[in-house]
Amino acid sequence: MASLENKIIVITGASSGIGQATARALHTAGASVMLAARRGDRLTELATELGEKAASHVTDVSNRQQVQDLAQATIAKFGRIDGWVNNAGYMPLSMIEEGKVDEWDKMVDVNIKGVLYGINAAVPAMLKQGFGDVVNISSVAGHLVFPSGAVYCGTKFAVRAISEGLRNEFAGRIRVTTISPGAVATELANHITSDQVLENLKPLLDLAINPNAIADAIVYALSQPRDVSINEMIIRPTAQEL
Ligand code: NDP
Repeated sequence: MASLENKIIVITGASSGIGQATARALHTAGASVMLAARRGDRLTELATELGEKAASHVTDVSNRQQVQDLAQATIAKFGRIDGWVNNAGYMPLSMIEEGKVDEWDKMVDVNIKGVLYGINAAVPAMLKQGFGDVVNISSVAGHLVFPSGAVYCGTKFAVRAISEGLRNEFAGRIRVTTISPGAVATELANHITSDQVLENLKPLLDLAINPNAIADAIVYALSQPRDVSINEMIIRPTAQEL
């Protein structure tokens, strides 16, 4: 496997869960990491823990200018962008009948537009240097649809479609990996405001695996030699049906 030493990697949603674990794992593998999310106190704490090869930039991924600023801040600090992990996400599951349209809007803004803004900010820098890695976090919810997941699943199907499009258009120049986790023990379910949906989800949450399983898969994908591409990975609790 190739070394991640001297690689500069941006991770969105690095303030908790999968993003935080990924930042730690990439840093341990030798990469310099730029941590992004809205909760700056958490980012500062993690960047301080990781030390010299880590920095943070408070970013709302649903704000196009802030994502552009994140790319600029990364280049100003580290000189390049070698990898960009579009991980930030929001999952307020609910039944369509409940009409939680504001939550639908926000899911589209964070889970789809946030990924697009990340791609738009990273790709020019990657094309300039002739290579780059984009990792997009979809979900098993990007492979199947379940009651209460119509909108969330829609956003995660979109992430897989966008990843395919990116791969088609930049073959040979930008490597694109889509990661689809099953249940992972993070703060994600805290966003659910529908009591019944949360109750129904509990048995699945009990199966949730450690976020390090996803972080390790991202390190594996990014550590491949340049002529080897990991297109997609589904990583789920052994006991979880897809
Ligand atoms: P967490 O809730 O623990 O982490 C979500 C992260 O996204 C946080 O760091 C949060 O930071 C960030 N975030 C949310 N909204 C924004 C925003 N507008 N701008 C910037 N950052 C934002 O959940 P996970 O770690 O589980 O989620 C990571 C990804 O994994 C998501 O895309 C999720 O859909 C996906 N996933 C998770 C699964 C699971 O079971 N946990 C299963 C399948 C996929 P902050 O609030 O500080 O901005």
